[in-house]
Amino acid sequence: MHQNDEQNRDMLRMENLQKIKNTIVVISGKGGVGKSTVSVNIAYALALQGRRVGIMDVDIHGPSIAKMTGIDNKRLVSEEEGERPRPIEAVHNLFVLSIASMLESPDEAIIWRGPMKMGVIRQFLEDIDWPELDYLVVDCPPGTGDEPLSVIQLIGDVTGVVVVTTPQDVALLDVRKSINFVKKLETPILGIVENMAGFVCPKCGEKVDIFKSGGAEKVGKSFNVEVLGSIPIDGNIVNSGDEGKPYVYHYGKTEGGKIFSEIAEKLMVKIGKQCRSKNTFKAAMPLENGKLSEHFGHAKLFGIFTVEDKKIAKYEELTPPPHDCESIPKWLNELGVEKVIVKGIGDGAIKNLALKNIKAYEGDISISKDELVQKLIDNSLKLSRSNCPGAGCGHRH
Ligand code: ADP
Repeated sequence: MHQNDEQNRDMLRMENLQKIKNTIVVISGKGGVGKSTVSVNIAYALALQGRRVGIMDVDIHGPSIAKMTGIDNKRLVSEEEGERPRPIEAVHNLFVLSIASMLESPDEAIIWRGPMKMGVIRQFLEDIDWPELDYLVVDCPPGTGDEPLSVIQLIGDVTGVVVVTTPQDVALLDVRKSINFVKKLETPILGIVENMAGFVCPKCGEKVDIFKSGGAEKVGKSFNVEVLGSIPIDGNIVNSGDEGKPYVYHYGKTEGGKIFSEIAEKLMVKIGKQCRSKNTFKAAMPLENGKLSEHFGHAKLFGIFTVEDKKIAKYEELTPPPHDCESIPKWLNELGVEKVIVKGIGDGAIKNLALKNIKAYEGDISISKDELVQKLIDNSLKLSRSNCPGAGCGHRH
């Protein structure tokens, strides 16, 4: 791919991610434990609480989300020619993206090779016009392979991972692997959902633990990970999945339905707490005469702001290293800076910042630096695109 194309695509992805407040990645150690069922029902339970939610089905070998959400007969289309398509709105405020909606027919078989799979995941984040969302739930294929890895790397700052398991020993062994995988990637784990935990006899109401019980709790304790809830076996889950009528919507008053709602509530509270600590970050901007400079690479001073709980808690001015392609992004990263405010920056610099997980926001040089940081805190600055055409790495103003 041409370097500029690649940068444009990185930009499209970052713009999309900017519109998505939180991403919840759902994984499982093995297939058939109900991972897609849990993804769909968590997403619907969040939507029932009035949140705007997306589901992205990355399980491209066995995409079942389209069927479970009743959109399997719909195809992705752009509203206007040349525009990127939007995910399909399955019910009010719930948007679904699945490879199934891109195939000619639901029975079409695709032989996926490694690079193709990665390409599809990138396309899901770049070639689709995602709406503003409170939560994006990503349903990954089972296991700890390339797909969940790519998802976590491409999204960059995943809010957290939910691990789905059944109570059997083998599945729990797999869950240990999954937890270690997520920990290695330094991504937060929101919790474990134990599925198919016991069967409530519809006739006598007695609960039978078909696959043992209490295992997830033990694994959770040993890794210090919360078990968010245990969903019993319920024939209605199979029917609702097959009929495309999500369980929490149609069977919300059952034991399982109630537990799904509780799980969604726990996730919202957990993510809310996490967000509050996220309101603590470091931001930087190049300075000229005490204001935002138009020359990112050649500024003599940088203002470094420590934001705590949405307020500027500390401010210092530091001298950057001499300008070359990578030194300033590297220096900012070492200082712990996650966001920069810029005016006039080359695509190359944006790319180098992105490689260090630093986001560049477009600032207005007529505004004071404190006001700019306040706008950044209030989420009212746009991600920067190069306004200096042709300016790549090493370009001199
Ligand atoms: P995975 O995504 O892990 O492969 P699915 O969500 O596709 O698993 O579920 C596999 C099958 O098990 C589906 O037919 C689904 O309806 C069924 N299922 C999932 N959870 C339950 C449950 N708690 N009770 C009964 N059936 C379930």
